[in-house]
Amino acid sequence: MFVLRSNRDAAQMAIAMIEHGVDPLDQLEAASRSLSDLEKRFAEQPGPETRALPLAPLEGDALLMSLSDIVASVRGAMVAVPDPQLSRKLDELLYSINRLRSAEGDVTHRLVRRELSGIVNDVETSIALIRQDLVRMRDASLQERRAIDQAVLSGGVTGIVIGLFLIFYLSRSISRPIRSAASALRQVGGASTAGREPPAADMMLDLESAIRFVETVIENKERSSRLQRSSSAAHLLATVERQQKRLRVALDALRKPLCLVDEAGRLTDANREFEKLFPDLRVGTLVSTWTGHELLANALLKGGEDEVLEPGDGSLFRVRCHTNPIDNGMIAVFDDLTPGETTQRELERLSMQDSLTGLPNRDNFYSFLDHALKSGTEPVSVFVIDVVAFKNVNTTLGLGAGDELLRQVGERLTQLAGPDCHVARVAGDEFGLVAPSIEQRGGPERFGRNIVHDFARRPITVAGRPLTVRLAVGVVPDLQPDGSLDARIVMRDCEIALETAKKSTSDPFCVYAPEIRIEHQRRQDMERDLREGLVRGEFELHFQPFIDVKRKCVSGFEALVRWNSPTRGHVSPGVFIPIMEETGLIVPLGLFVLRDACRQAARWPGGLTLSINLSPRQFDVGDIVADVRQTLSETKLDPKRLQLEVTESLFLSDGDKVLDILTALRKLGVTISMDDFGTGYSSLGYLSRFPFDKIKIDQSFVRDLSRRENMAIVRAVLGLGASMKLAVIAEGVETVDQMVALEGEGCLEMQGYLFSPPRAAGELAKVLVEVREGFQNGRFEPAPAPVALRA
Ligand code: C2E
Ligand code: CA
Ligand code: CA
Repeated sequence: MFVLRSNRDAAQMAIAMIEHGVDPLDQLEAASRSLSDLEKRFAEQPGPETRALPLAPLEGDALLMSLSDIVASVRGAMVAVPDPQLSRKLDELLYSINRLRSAEGDVTHRLVRRELSGIVNDVETSIALIRQDLVRMRDASLQERRAIDQAVLSGGVTGIVIGLFLIFYLSRSISRPIRSAASALRQVGGASTAGREPPAADMMLDLESAIRFVETVIENKERSSRLQRSSSAAHLLATVERQQKRLRVALDALRKPLCLVDEAGRLTDANREFEKLFPDLRVGTLVSTWTGHELLANALLKGGEDEVLEPGDGSLFRVRCHTNPIDNGMIAVFDDLTPGETTQRELERLSMQDSLTGLPNRDNFYSFLDHALKSGTEPVSVFVIDVVAFKNVNTTLGLGAGDELLRQVGERLTQLAGPDCHVARVAGDEFGLVAPSIEQRGGPERFGRNIVHDFARRPITVAGRPLTVRLAVGVVPDLQPDGSLDARIVMRDCEIALETAKKSTSDPFCVYAPEIRIEHQRRQDMERDLREGLVRGEFELHFQPFIDVKRKCVSGFEALVRWNSPTRGHVSPGVFIPIMEETGLIVPLGLFVLRDACRQAARWPGGLTLSINLSPRQFDVGDIVADVRQTLSETKLDPKRLQLEVTESLFLSDGDKVLDILTALRKLGVTISMDDFGTGYSSLGYLSRFPFDKIKIDQSFVRDLSRRENMAIVRAVLGLGASMKLAVIAEGVETVDQMVALEGEGCLEMQGYLFSPPRAAGELAKVLVEVREGFQNGRFEPAPAPVALRA
């Protein structure tokens, strides 16, 4: 189950190892060695009578220190393990070790021995799993090596890079593999291996330059093999035709008149502007035969720098002629000197150009695209490329840095796209790209992914800092120009694909398909209905009780919002909450929930608590602290009775800001609870950094307590709660068995369908009675074992 799923995982592990300088196997083996030492120490303890005695203080201290070392090693291993399941396994392991650590004074020899053997087993399993991966990766690596020659010819850069990381991983030490990897790469690329070994500080640079070296070799080989392939006459002809078309597009895109004359003095080419200016001068005619254009003909034949022409329509042009080295002919460019026209044209030019990046602007892009779709001859693919989290650059490094980044992104895109593509800046941090047929570059998907990959791999230096730029890309591929296509519709589809790419957590690249638009439309309809629903007051609160199993009564209620749409009926919060989060509608909805729930709870009897869910967006937009303060003062609800539930996703953005807000909320006297605990990645870190009062064990662990790992997690969370003095509540309790098991582990507060589903506000008094009666009449007790009847 924990076998790393792909070479990509292996490469990721290797990258993590480079970044953090750790090797998971080494780390786990270190943990294993310390553990066997510990086991030995406790195995040698005297007879049964002392086993139940607590450890002596010195022994306890030594145990604590050894466990801290083991924790450090396991943590180290986790850093380099990209596989979430294996990582979760290690997380569990940490829980167990921490549990033993936090038991401190009450530890007996027997307990230590029992816990140690469990931990040793888990460490050994993890080692075995990683080792299994190693063997698999070594085999893959050998295959990869054999495939390298092949890969060089077919451009398999990724294969080589992965191969390199595998070599690196297998060597299991940091400096040696980098050197050997760099030299292996050079060998692959055909370079001599002799030479000095780089000093340690240069190793990463050396490795990087080795990778670049191989890539260059690959590129050269690709180029030469392409040339070989294209040697057939048909292929050559097609290439020539394509080149000619490109030349024509380029010439026509030029806003100055231009023409080419060959050695024999024949007009071989002219752009559209030239044709407009001199409609009577045809391509193919000899310059010497032109009548009425003697001055121009003279300049073209002799070559002149500053000849001024008056074509006869009131305009004034200066012609500049340069020798054309290809056929010893002449290229002539015409500057418009007509009074008033110069500035007009300059303005026109500027209005088509983005002043920050110097790239074509949005209008220019649309007209280019429109032309390509309506009158082009080849299929085109249209890309919209977004710089992910660009806002952060502006806010953290300043607007100047943001501008510089956009300039460099524009340059890199133009350079990667190549001369046959049209790149423009179409919005703040969005670029547009029209690519003609790019089959020879792997088709639109490969072409686009290569761009994303290049940015991810080569940081851009801005304000002296290297920034790794993440791109999101939407593409409408292979559009066959047929006169009916509209640039605006194509761009709209492109933006829809881009939105999907931006939302995805796994793939920043999305190819447009009609289903995406249908889904987009569905979401937009839902968003509109939600917006109207907020105005029309279609939302109401239901409440689900928290149960105090010791006192056998309801301790409080969680407010859960419900939407009763006139057209859609009851819609599950699982469906509409994510859309509200995405669109920001959760902020006004959250304020409604806060106010309405507090208003109702202020009328509840005694010390019943009220729990409400806060979304991360509410920490981003508006002032949640002021909202809570004002609501408490307006409703007169005792702050001690209000619990705010947050999830780990809250800490994905600005952790420091979140910490400040949570601290301010806590100062108001409210309680902060961590919802869905255990479903995120590294919950432990947050617990120590943030001021939580309560943890809610997620229902996924409660659902199947018969699974050993779920029980281990529940146990570890309860142990953690006890040692960190945090209350713990388990949610999703549906059966008496679950309740009994949780209670047996020391869980004193629960929530779930066993006691009650969320109920309308008017039914809460009934819920209090039902729960009390449930305890009295044994509804929450295990069924008695059947009594065997005697014959
Ligand atoms: P949550 O905060 O984890 O809420 C618990 C969910 O589990 C609720 O689903 C509840 O009805 C359900 N549940 C409770 N006991 C059981 C049980 O024994 N078995 C099972 N299978 N499910 C149980 P609900 O009401 O559909 O809410 C879903 C999610 O929507 C909530 O998950 C919460 O994340 C979000 N949500 C609901 N109301 C609000 C709100 O006012 N604001 C915010 N930000 N989110 C809300
Ligand atoms: Ca909740
Ligand atoms: Ca929950």
